[in-house]
Amino acid sequence: MQGTLTIESIDHFRNLYQRNNKGSGHKNLKCFPNCCMGIHAHQGFCGSAVRVEFKWESSTYDFKPLIFAAFTPITNTNLPHWNSFQELPNEKDISWYKGDLIRLEKSGKMTFSVNSLLRAWHYGWQSNRHTAMTEHVLCIYAIIVKEAKIHVIDQIHSPRFRIFSRRRAKTTKYLQKVSTKPIMTPLLPSISDQVSWQHILDDTSFLIDECKSIASTKETTRKDEEKDN
Ligand SMILES: [Zn+2]
Repeated sequence: MQGTLTIESIDHFRNLYQRNNKGSGHKNLKCFPNCCMGIHAHQGFCGSAVRVEFKWESSTYDFKPLIFAAFTPITNTNLPHWNSFQELPNEKDISWYKGDLIRLEKSGKMTFSVNSLLRAWHYGWQSNRHTAMTEHVLCIYAIIVKEAKIHVIDQIHSPRFRIFSRRRAKTTKYLQKVSTKPIMTPLLPSISDQVSWQHILDDTSFLIDECKSIASTKETTRKDEEKDN
């Protein structure tokens, strides 16, 4: 029995994701594989489901395989750490994502949505300061269970990506040391900030002078053209 898995919209994946540490063992990738409908959600979960297609090589098969996915690092052999299944992943294991069949075409092509309910993309991999450059992938498996044995029909992985954490100890220490003010300052100063307003007025008068000079150049050119005619 042979079949082929492919990932839809593979160009939507990025090569770098931020991972949040929520405590309680939850470490979630943000915006994986891309933002919600392409637009970043500033609050709550941002990300989307991963869609995969599966097709049996022979049309004599029409039953649906089980689709499972999990994140894994690229190992020293430059390959993902593929899972070898002794049993099916436990439903309570938050490292595993299941695929739901969302479309079946006449040709037999099936489309599955992985993490359709859009719970967070948890990835519990343990990082340390030597592993910042480690690459990762989402491994996806098409499985059937036959005579109580698990057969992996096909397995594919997402493009490789790296992860970073916003709460780096060094950054936090640095920020605590240098400033207690917000890092972002408003684009416009407050109206009471006379000095800054004066700067803006100075800038504006400079712009006005610039415009006047452009206008007078144009006027001269026009007069010259009139003369020529
Ligand atoms: Zn986003």
